[in-house]
Amino acid sequence: MKIGCPTEIKPQEYRVGLTPIAAKEAVAHGHEVIVQSGAGLGAGFDDAAYEAAGARIIATAAEVFAEADMIVKVKEPQAVERKMLREGQVLFTYLHLAPDEAQTRDLIASGCTAIAYETVTDRAGGLPLLAPMSEVAGRLAPQMGAWTLQKANGGRGVLMGGVPGVGPARVIVIGGGVVGTHAARIAAGMGAEVTVLDRSLPRLRTLDDIFGDMFKTGYSSAGLLEELLPQADMVIGAVLIPGAAAPKLVRRDQFGMMKPGAALVDVAIDQGGCFETSRATTHADPVYEVDGIMHYCVANMPGAVARTSTIALGNATMPFMLALADKGWKKACADDPHLLAGLNVHAGQLTYAAVGEALGIET
Ligand code: NAD
Repeated sequence: MKIGCPTEIKPQEYRVGLTPIAAKEAVAHGHEVIVQSGAGLGAGFDDAAYEAAGARIIATAAEVFAEADMIVKVKEPQAVERKMLREGQVLFTYLHLAPDEAQTRDLIASGCTAIAYETVTDRAGGLPLLAPMSEVAGRLAPQMGAWTLQKANGGRGVLMGGVPGVGPARVIVIGGGVVGTHAARIAAGMGAEVTVLDRSLPRLRTLDDIFGDMFKTGYSSAGLLEELLPQADMVIGAVLIPGAAAPKLVRRDQFGMMKPGAALVDVAIDQGGCFETSRATTHADPVYEVDGIMHYCVANMPGAVARTSTIALGNATMPFMLALADKGWKKACADDPHLLAGLNVHAGQLTYAAVGEALGIET
C-alpha cells in the first residue's frame, strides 16, 4: 500500500501524522511511504530523517493526496484537503465530526473511508488514541500553571515547591482521570501540595492505591471545593462527562474568596471548560485575568510540545496504521472491533451513530 503523510495546515498545528520511526516500520512491512517536504519540521523531523527511514519526499500536498492509498494525519482535514480526498482512499486521523457538519458532509461526498482516532476503543473501555494527548496535556498543565503563577505573567508570584522555610504551592486538580492523574503526579513532583477531586469513588480508590500519600484525594462536591478554594494557588480543571459539555465547577462569584493572582488551568476547555469564566485561548496569547484570577485555557495544549506529542501519538497509532496497511481497511476492521469503532464514514455513508444523532444525518 502507498501511505501518504501531508503537512498539517491547521493554524498552530506543529505535529505530524507519521514519525520517521513509523515510516520505517511501514517500509519494513513492504509499504511505500510518501511524505510532504517539511511535514515533520514542526516536530523536529527533517526530510532527511524520513528519507533515511526509506520514505520518499514529495513537494506538495496535492501530490500526496493524489498518489496515496491511505492518508495519515493529525488534525481533521481542512476544506482544501477534503477536496483532494477520493473514493476508496482511507483517511486515518482525528476527525471530531459531531460538532462539524461541513466536514462530515464533505467526507461523505468524497466517498473516502474515514477512520477517526478519537473513536477507536480498547479492551479496557478506553480511547487509546486520545489517551496520549490527555497524558501530554495533564503533564503540561502544572508546568503552564507554574508559569502563570509567576509575577511577570500576572500570577501570585508563588514557587510550586516553595523553599526551606517557605511552604509549597497548593494545587487542586478537579477530575482524576487521565489528565488529572498526570497533572497531579507532575504537580506533586514539583513539590506542590496537591489534592485531587473526583466523583468516582472507584477512581479515588485506584489513585490512593497507586500513589499513596503523594497527593490527597477528595470526593468532588461544591461544598468541599468551596472549603479548598481559599487556600489554593492553582486549580487544574480536568473533568470529563463523556458526550456532554463540561460542568461549571468554579463560579465567578467565588473568586472573591480566592487568593489574588491564583491560577486556573482549564484543560477541559475543549469541552467548554469547567470554570464559569473560561474561554479558549491560544499558545500565542494563553493567559487572561478575571477579577484578579489568572486563567490559562489553551484548547490544544499538546501543540506546545509538538515533538513529544507527535512521538506519543505515533506510538499509539502505529499498530493500527500497520494493520490498515497490511490487511486493507476491510479485513483490519473485521479482525479488530476496536479499530472498527473508529470507522466514521465509508463510501458516501456516515457510519457512526453518535455523529448521525448529533447532526441529524442518516447512518
Ligand atoms: P477522563 O475520562 O480520563 O477523566 C475525567 C474524569 O473526570 C473522570 O475520572 C470523571 O470521574 C471525572 N469527573 C466527572 N465529573 C466530575 C466532577 N463534577 N468533579 C470531579 N470529577 C469529575 O478524561 P481525560 O482524558 O482526563 O480528559 C479530561 C478533559 O481534558 C476532557 O475534557 C478532555 O477533552 C480534555 N483534554 C484537553 C486537552 C487540551 O489540550 N486542552 C488535551 C487533552 C484532553
